[in-house]
Amino acid sequence: MHDTEVVIVGSGIIGLTIARELLKRGCEKILILEKESQLGVHASGRNSGILHAGVYYTPDSLKAKSCLRGNMLMSEFCTKNHLPYLKTGKVIVVKSESELETLAELERRARANGASVEMIDEKTLKELEPSARTVKKALWVKNTATVDPRKVLEALAKEFESSGKVTIRFNCMFKGVKSSFEIITSCGNVRFEHFINCAGAYCDCVAHAFGLGKEYKIVPFKGLYWKLQRDCVLNDTIKGNIYPVPNLQNPFLGVHFSRNIYGDVYVGPTAIPAFGREHYGVISGIDREALQILKANAILFFRHPQFRSVAIHEPLKYLKPFFYKDASALVRGLKPGDLVPSNKVGIRPQLINKNTLSLEMDFVMIKDGNTVHVLNPISPAFTASMDLAEKVCNTLESSE
Ligand SMILES: Cc1cc2nc3c(=O)[nH]c(=O)nc-3n(C[C@H](O)[C@H](O)[C@H](O)COP(=O)(O)OP(=O)(O)OC[C@H]3O[C@@H](n4cnc5c(N)ncnc54)[C@H](O)[C@@H]3O)c2cc1C
Repeated sequence: MHDTEVVIVGSGIIGLTIARELLKRGCEKILILEKESQLGVHASGRNSGILHAGVYYTPDSLKAKSCLRGNMLMSEFCTKNHLPYLKTGKVIVVKSESELETLAELERRARANGASVEMIDEKTLKELEPSARTVKKALWVKNTATVDPRKVLEALAKEFESSGKVTIRFNCMFKGVKSSFEIITSCGNVRFEHFINCAGAYCDCVAHAFGLGKEYKIVPFKGLYWKLQRDCVLNDTIKGNIYPVPNLQNPFLGVHFSRNIYGDVYVGPTAIPAFGREHYGVISGIDREALQILKANAILFFRHPQFRSVAIHEPLKYLKPFFYKDASALVRGLKPGDLVPSNKVGIRPQLINKNTLSLEMDFVMIKDGNTVHVLNPISPAFTASMDLAEKVCNTLESSE
């Protein structure tokens, strides 16, 4: 039996930043339970490492309210801790004139969210990103930056070591609820005053164990990346991030080019419906839940036009010619041979609402008694995490 003030399930960026915020607020004893043997095994260690600047999200959303400030807080943290950090900016380009209207909507949303953006013409685009293609206009997003997500996780864990007040218990899995103040785990029961669910791809299961969020289920989407050959011409000319105009009806930003802090240019990620919450390989990661996920996907396929479009087009990107076609619409001079497979792959745990059969677009936070559950921790949750952590702690402290 362990006793703690606050127990957090999950040591991804959400769990760690919440622990940091609790420490700041004077919490003396925090226990983080992590089923893996190390940090960064799932989404927080497998993402693009982009600090987004608050462009895409409707102004009333939690994403909009936390992204830009999260970017600033994370940037400060990286600078203070001497972590790799590059303020690269990004450009959002259009593939045809028909996308210009959506580009204008992105500019409106960005300005409403306080993001620093500028609509630019093709000539300015060429100065910023010589290889990027667009039609007439592009949106320049100035505060987009790039970090090494694993280094951020490690730096947070190091802060905890020096505090002596936070324990990360690896190889310890949340299994169920015994009472309002006690949970069952693979390493013994834990008694707590407060409980926070930051279980990433399993956030719905943990909430369900508390009898909460029964209307929600996670449907996983696989994000595969390719990489540019280090010695190809394009690898030198891409300076930062080149993104397409996304379909604003779904939560994915589309395959993009991103130079990481070590000089590699990654191209991706896809959003291919996956058959397991940790389905990183071709077969590996497909588990007992696959049939249930398949059923959820089938229902969405028939009832949800946006999901149908994703489900038809994204799996084709397993095949290089289709992936290449998508990527080459963003830049000039990409040759098929420039793209090489990379071992970078992540799963986006997308929450669906079973009642409305819709993909949840925003982060979802549920408070019940002494517990808070962070659901739908999809992009830009890495960027937003430090601001979101404040909001989670405020919610935990509130009497409602
Ligand atoms: C391909 C891809 C690219 C992305 N790119 C970006 C980006 O560029 N910028 C950005 O801001 N965001 C990006 N994101 C989103 C971002 O990575 C995630 O939103 C964020 O990492 C979520 O953090 P988390 O802590 O909720 O989840 P995770 O990192 O998945 O952490 C959850 C942890 O909970 C543990 N856990 C689960 N169940 C249990 C249990 N029962 N008991 C104990 N432990 C448990 C897991 O092992 C895991 O370590 C991207 C995501 C993907 C997949």
